[in-house]
Parts: sequence; structure tokens; C-alpha cells
Amino acid sequence: MTFSQPPEIPGGLAGLESRVRQDLAWLDLPTRSWVPERCVDGRHVLDVVVIGGGMAGLTASGYLRRYGLLNHVVLDQAQAGQEGPWVTYARMTTLRSPKTLSGPCMGLPSLTFRAWYEARFGVVAWDGLDKIPRETWMAYLEWLRHVLDLPVRNGVTLTNVTRTADGVLALTVVQDGVTETLLCRHLVLATGRDGLGGSYVPPVIAALPRDYWRHSADPIDFEALKNRRVVVVGAGASAMDNAATALEAGAARVDMIIRRDTLPAVNKFTGIGSMGVVQGFVGLPDGWKWRFMDTVLDAQTPPPRPSVLRVSSHPNAFFHLSCPIDRLEVAANAVRLHTPRGVMETDFIIAATGFCSDLSRRPELAAMAPHIRLWKDRFTPTAQDMPSGHVSAELATSPDLGPGFEFLEKVPGSCPWLKYVHCFCFPATLSHGKVSGDIPAISDGAERLARHITRALFVEDRETHYANLVAFDTPELRGDEWHDTPLPAIG
Ligand SMILES: Cc1cc2nc3c(=O)[nH]c(=O)nc-3n(C[C@H](O)[C@H](O)[C@H](O)COP(=O)(O)OP(=O)(O)OC[C@H]3O[C@@H](n4cnc5c(N)ncnc54)[C@H](O)[C@@H]3O)c2cc1C
Repeated sequence: MTFSQPPEIPGGLAGLESRVRQDLAWLDLPTRSWVPERCVDGRHVLDVVVIGGGMAGLTASGYLRRYGLLNHVVLDQAQAGQEGPWVTYARMTTLRSPKTLSGPCMGLPSLTFRAWYEARFGVVAWDGLDKIPRETWMAYLEWLRHVLDLPVRNGVTLTNVTRTADGVLALTVVQDGVTETLLCRHLVLATGRDGLGGSYVPPVIAALPRDYWRHSADPIDFEALKNRRVVVVGAGASAMDNAATALEAGAARVDMIIRRDTLPAVNKFTGIGSMGVVQGFVGLPDGWKWRFMDTVLDAQTPPPRPSVLRVSSHPNAFFHLSCPIDRLEVAANAVRLHTPRGVMETDFIIAATGFCSDLSRRPELAAMAPHIRLWKDRFTPTAQDMPSGHVSAELATSPDLGPGFEFLEKVPGSCPWLKYVHCFCFPATLSHGKVSGDIPAISDGAERLARHITRALFVEDRETHYANLVAFDTPELRGDEWHDTPLPAIG
């Protein structure tokens, strides 16, 4: 069979939106709401609150609706259109992922990036598109939210979570300086790459006065770096993006300070990506989960080749490998770097050194943080489990999650309500695989999450559902379709 070029969507974006509505109608979606309403002291209780309206939170919301959990809301501290890294601190020109990934489409062809892009810009433009500009990806996510009519509230920050005497979660949220308490039964933390912690800055850099450094995820005034010497610490994609942005803004020189002997070149996890990994990782024995992730972290993710070329095409960009920073000092309004390869001076440092899980940096989780079980609380890797030869701090501090991404207790019985709090962000990777952050498998992860919450709500409300079963008496037959007859006589 041969496939010809697909036709342009008639009617452009409006045509695609009708098609989405048609697809949903054909699938009889969203399913009708079925969870019994709950009130506490006359106050409405939401079934689910999702914190984070980035890609993960939107996809989770889409699946909650699909399963009939309509009584939910998504909250994001960012303003609409500013969620996640895409138009805030991401400094690459295009996404790192290939354009063909179906990502948050929830299995519906009309919700894919490709469908949206073709409807907006045409089939020819799609053919000519190499990688997706990051602003275009953000525009697509905004469209998903709009076309699915997802219940997102922006400018709302979660600041605290506790449990009430009535057994529901009480969320303290702040919007425009006004504090409000929301009651809910399940809480989903779709809070992103740094969802359980924050930016990681090596202590040697963090000890410098703030005028001399920023993390790559901080706002940075690149105009102010014109004609100045900049050091970028790190060798990943963000290191390259920040270095290139500084060079393009007119930095006098940019020195890439890289601890490793060579740049990582092989993208291990992407390389073995398959439905087997997406669905199967969660079923691995603990030691094997650790072994996979230890190998991936040890190999590191290579920066995309175009990102490296974006830096190295500048004659004033310099790469220094095998160059860990031993010591830093401020002297004569500059920072002096002491390394095994010698001493150098710079005006400004950008630490492109990634993120870490550190619950103490998330005040909104303070009430539950002491009770959350981490992998290091339960599991000690053997030498076979860690080919890197050392216990990875990133893995050791990962939360040890249940099958629905729910937190588990460090000490059984100490905080039973943790089972209502679901960690649907990057730190879930060691427990669930790469299904709670990056584009490729976000729909698979969101569906896993929504199914679990659906089951938990039904089981918890079983008495009501059983009472409904007993009380249900709408006849399908009227009694006029048949009549009782005597048995036929024998012979
Ligand atoms: C620079 C950069 C480039 C990337 N490029 C790619 C790529 O090309 N392909 C890819 O697959 N992945 C990429 N990633 C990974 C990327 O983070 C994810 O794919 C995507 O952003 C994950 O979506 P998310 O919803 O999990 O997190 P995010 O998009 O980060 O969304 C989390 C949201 O939670 C909100 N939030 C957090 N805490 C609170 C709170 N207390 N109250 C209210 N709201 C809160 C934040 O405001 C944020 O909007 C990149 C990451 C970075 C940092």
C-alpha cells in the first residue's frame, strides 16, 4: 500500500478544531462525571487538584477528563502562555526532540503537534520544518489547553498542603496576594524538572556574591554581558544554549568549563526508546531500575550537535575539558578560577549544572516532606546495580513511588495521606521510567496516573456506588415485550 501526501486540513485551525470535537464525539468523550459530590462544612471538595499547567499538568488534566473526573482544576503560578521553560528560561532556538513525536496528544491524531502545525501553517511548511521552534511548541500547548477546554487557573501558587480532620487535603494557594484554601481528595504535583527541589549550583559557585553568577534557569540579563568575559560551567544542552546566547549578545569571550575529559556523545535512553521501555520500566526489579538509570546518568545526555555548533561557530568561544573548578575567588572586580589546568579570570559565571531533588527547598511540601520515602530510605544498590561505581545522589534522593505515582511513607502509619499526593514530575523517573516529563511518553504517564486516581476514588466511594447499584431501578424492559406461558403439555 502507498500513502499519498495527506491533504491540507480544510478550514485551517477552525477546521481542525471541528475535527477534534468530532473525534471526541465519536469516542463519546469526555465520559460523564461519576464521582459523588463531596462537601465538608458546606464547602465544595475538588476530586483532584493538579499543580502545574505545563505539558505534564495539561496532559494529566486531559486524561482526568477522559475518565470522567471533571471536578478537577489545574493551578499554575505562571501567567497563561508562560508555563514551563519554553518561553522563559529555555535558550535554545528549537526543541531538542524530533518534530514527529506525538507527545501530549492522548492518542488522538487531531491533537498532535503535526495536525496543529499543518492546520496553522500548511503541509508544505510541515515538510520544510526541521526542529520545532520553542515558541511554536508553547503556542501548540496553549492551543491544546484551549481546544480541550482544560480547567487551568494561572497566577496561583501552592504554598502549603495539610490534611483536615474530615480526611481531605487542604491546599493553601495564593493569587495576587490573596490567600485561599482549596479542599481536594487527590493532589498531583506536575511541577516540572525541578519539581521536588530546585536548580543545582555547585557550592563553590553558590558561595560567590550573587553579582557574579546565575544558574542557567535564572533570568539573565544577556545585554549586560556585552563585551564582558563569561564562563559557562557544564557540558549539557543548557550549557550550550546559554553560551550561545551570551555570544550572540556580544560577550567578549565565552569559556566553557567542563569537568569531563570529553563531551557526552551518545544519548543512551533515547537510543533504546521503545514501547517496551515506556511500559516495561516500571515492572523492573529495583536493582535493575537503578542499573538502567545509573548507566544513563553516568553517560549523561549529549547536547544536540546544532547547539554545540551554535557555540563553536564563534571565534571567541573556548572549550576547556578535564577542567573541574577547585576554588574561586573575587579579585579586582573579577572572578578568578583555580583549576588543575591553571588559573583564569572572568566577569560572570553561568552555572548550567542542572537540577536536584531537595524537599527542603519546596516550602509547599514542608508538612509531608519528613514522611516521604526516598529510594535511599529503602534500597541499597549492589556493585552490580551501579556500573558507575558510586551511589548517585540523584537516584538516592528520588522519591520511592507507588503504582499511581503516589508518595509512600518512610515509616508506615506516620502520614497515611501521602497516598493522595502524586508526584507526576521528573523525579518520578527512577520509579516509573521516563513518562512524567519529556515529550515522548507524557501521554502514557498521564494515562497511568489518571487510571490510578480513577480506581482509588471508585474504591474509596464503594459504599455510595453500591447504594446506587441497589437503588438503581430504571427498567429497560416495560413488561409488555413478553408474557408468561404454561409449560407445553407432554405428548
Ligand atoms: C531548557 C530546557 C529545554 C528542554 N527541552 C526539551 C525538549 O526539547 N524535549 C523534551 O521532551 N523535553 C525538554 N525539556 C524537558 C522539559 O522540562 C519537559 O519536557 C517539559 O517542560 C515538562 O513539562 P512539565 O509539565 O513536567 O514541567 P514544566 O513545563 O516545567 O511545568 C511545570 C509547571 O509547574 C508550575 N509550578 C511549579 N511549582 C508550582 C507551585 N508551587 N504552584 C503553582 N505552580 C507551580 C510551574 O510554574 C510550571 O509552569 C527541556 C527542559 C529544559 C529545562
